[in-house]
Amino acid sequence: MSKPIFKIKPLGGVGQIGSNMTLIETASERIVIDCGILFPFEDYFDINYLIPNLSNEAPFDHIVFTHGHEDHIGAVSHFIQHSPEAKIHAGDFTAALIRKKLDYNKTPHHINVFDYHQTLKFNDISIDPIRVNHSIPDTFGLLIKDHKEFFALFFASDFKIDLKTKYELPFDFEKLKRLSAMAQKRVFMADSTNILSSNLNTPSEFDLIAHFENVFEKLENRLFVTCFSSNIHRLKTLIDLCEKYEFKLVPHGRSVISYLNIANEKGMIPNFDTVVRLPDQVQKGQKNLCVILSGCQGDHLGTLRRVSINEDSQFKLKPEDTVIFSSKPIPGNEKKVSMIMNKITELGANLITDPKALFHVSGHPGKNDLLKIYHEFDPHTIIPIHGETLFLKEHVKFISEAYPQASSILVENFDDLHFFENLEIRKIKGERLEPVIIHGNGIPLERERISERRKISCNGGVFLSLTPDNKHKKIERFEFSTLGLPAHFHQNEEQFKTFLTGFFDQNKINDAEKFKEEVRVAIRRYFDANIGYKPTTVVHLVNV
Ligand SMILES: [Zn+2]
Repeated sequence: MSKPIFKIKPLGGVGQIGSNMTLIETASERIVIDCGILFPFEDYFDINYLIPNLSNEAPFDHIVFTHGHEDHIGAVSHFIQHSPEAKIHAGDFTAALIRKKLDYNKTPHHINVFDYHQTLKFNDISIDPIRVNHSIPDTFGLLIKDHKEFFALFFASDFKIDLKTKYELPFDFEKLKRLSAMAQKRVFMADSTNILSSNLNTPSEFDLIAHFENVFEKLENRLFVTCFSSNIHRLKTLIDLCEKYEFKLVPHGRSVISYLNIANEKGMIPNFDTVVRLPDQVQKGQKNLCVILSGCQGDHLGTLRRVSINEDSQFKLKPEDTVIFSSKPIPGNEKKVSMIMNKITELGANLITDPKALFHVSGHPGKNDLLKIYHEFDPHTIIPIHGETLFLKEHVKFISEAYPQASSILVENFDDLHFFENLEIRKIKGERLEPVIIHGNGIPLERERISERRKISCNGGVFLSLTPDNKHKKIERFEFSTLGLPAHFHQNEEQFKTFLTGFFDQNKINDAEKFKEEVRVAIRRYFDANIGYKPTTVVHLVNV
């Protein structure tokens, strides 16, 4: 059998939501699409994020970014460390976001900012950006073709079809069809995010304007809105309404200020100077303010959470204030968000929860939107991507029912798809690697450490320091400290000391390591009997 013309392997984002990264491997080059982060699960404590696991991957030659969401660009500095020679290609706004991230992480790197009409030419394939709609400006699908045009593969992990939006140009079906017309086989790697949604047609960003305007018309006091900081279209809607109703828009939170500044630098917000004010540029008690709060997912460090628990130094919520959630909780964050809503209500502010009011629309396609692209692009094969396994399977089912003229392939991370000249696409099952946990200064944290952290956080800790006599046989002195143990223990500390003294009277040191382990086990038994659980116990033997 001849060699494949190219291979495609998802390294993240397929079978999970986040850390999107897809490898295209040709005879002479390794090109990846995106390199994003995965947001941590709640039981991972306060780690920063997870990144695709590249431990089995040779360096890459190029990376092409589709858009600037964190789950697509967030791991770019880790990528540069892995592939220092790689060339970065991105659209203008995405490049500005990446540049900021690279500067912040002190990993500067040249970026080739591509023009929409430019074809990215590689040794064995070409890639054309195809304009799509999404919840951040400058989002592209990528049309990937081998030079003999056996295949035209349209990769669109994040898109919607927004025919009414005034903030971006429409989905470029014409370019997609024109550039793929000559290919012998068309393949569509398609967004599965909303495959379970009952919204068959994702509403337009335009549809929100009237709902927000209804609120502005009646506003007599401050409005607080939380939304994704990167949703420049949404922020523009609010800025325009602020201008119309003579309000000032106050971005509150590092991320929302940063995104707005970059959008302004790129000339996207002509009325920025008239309308936007930083929190320290407004007067105390000023009423005509629309304050944008970051952390719409209930993030611990977001201003939304701080304001909701009345711990923000700039803004205290009052009963005459109005609050709008212009976002939806990402699966897993529902509890955090509903707790925040509850806190806001406790403070007496007017939280608008009218189910008929539309303050958020998705950036991903509903089933009918997917069907529209199937009909326009006319793919022979569809490969669902961007979603958990359940979503991908549901997408495969949807294709077989609603668009049976195309075949579908279910892939998961690290599966390798081989594309052959006879137009066959063969899937080779890959070895799945778990994403890498990152905490602190971009440093990986091993999975077993998470389980240690879990134990300390659940049961507290006991730290014991033992000083033996000069023959190293008997314990002469001990000291201990604890973390996270109840007052009940501290009230009975003497009893614990008596227990330790008794233990050291009866047990001598023969083997230091064995002895430490015996002490550890004895202490854990003591706690189990006295308080009903075993704290993490650490024993030090001094001078042995
Ligand atoms: Zn996105």
